[in-house]
Amino acid sequence: MHPTVTINNLNHAFGKGNLRRTVLSDINLALYPGEIVLLTGPSGSGKTTLLTLMGALRSVQDGSLQILDQELRGAKKRRLVKLRNQIGFIFQSHNLLDCLTAAENVEMALKLHKLSQRERRSRSHAMLSAVGLGEHSHKHPDQLSGGQKQRVAIARALVAEPKIVLADEPTASLDSHSGRDVVNLIQQLAHQQHCTVLLVTHDNRILDIAERNLHIEDGKLCA
Ligand code: ADP
Ligand code: MG
Repeated sequence: MHPTVTINNLNHAFGKGNLRRTVLSDINLALYPGEIVLLTGPSGSGKTTLLTLMGALRSVQDGSLQILDQELRGAKKRRLVKLRNQIGFIFQSHNLLDCLTAAENVEMALKLHKLSQRERRSRSHAMLSAVGLGEHSHKHPDQLSGGQKQRVAIARALVAEPKIVLADEPTASLDSHSGRDVVNLIQQLAHQQHCTVLLVTHDNRILDIAERNLHIEDGKLCA
């Protein structure tokens, strides 16, 4: 099977001169369609840095990182933006817009897709129903619980059927029950859509969903 993400000899550092610090060293990795990969590691080990590099949210400094057959290193801004729009992101804090309803937040993810307003609306509603929020689509984030907000964020990440979903500690702010729901949903939808999911966590309550577990320490991946 052809990987959706291929990383070769990737290094990343922050800071300049004496303050320069390597945070990722010699990362090699391939992720395939339909797999859910957990990335665990202590705080500060480089998980978010790796995820933001894979998400084309940060420039690649050294090494090769290909997503969906496109090299990110040296890629022009326009290409990065285009790639970013093909990735579903789920962050620790849901990052929903408070001034929009749940449905409108989900529809945002379809903005760049050539769809009619009606089609956008119906897809958003279908996705909110899939995450169990069909009855809440008209509500604003401040009327929803933490777990519900995170489910809206999942709906938003998946509504455009991305080939890659990157989730950075999506359960960190949730109680164990909602955390488990959220992860089960990501898993179920990912399988339906046959996308690659990379899920960063140090929530050991959810480790059992991993089909593959990667561990990172001091910027190095350990098998
Ligand atoms: P994790 O997500 O595993 O907690 P991060 O990838 O956020 O780790 O951070 C890895 C290291 O890089 C940490 O030491 C952190 O302080 C540092 N770091 C992260 N982002 C920046 C930045 N924008 N500028 C400087 N240092 C950073
Ligand atoms: Mg982090």
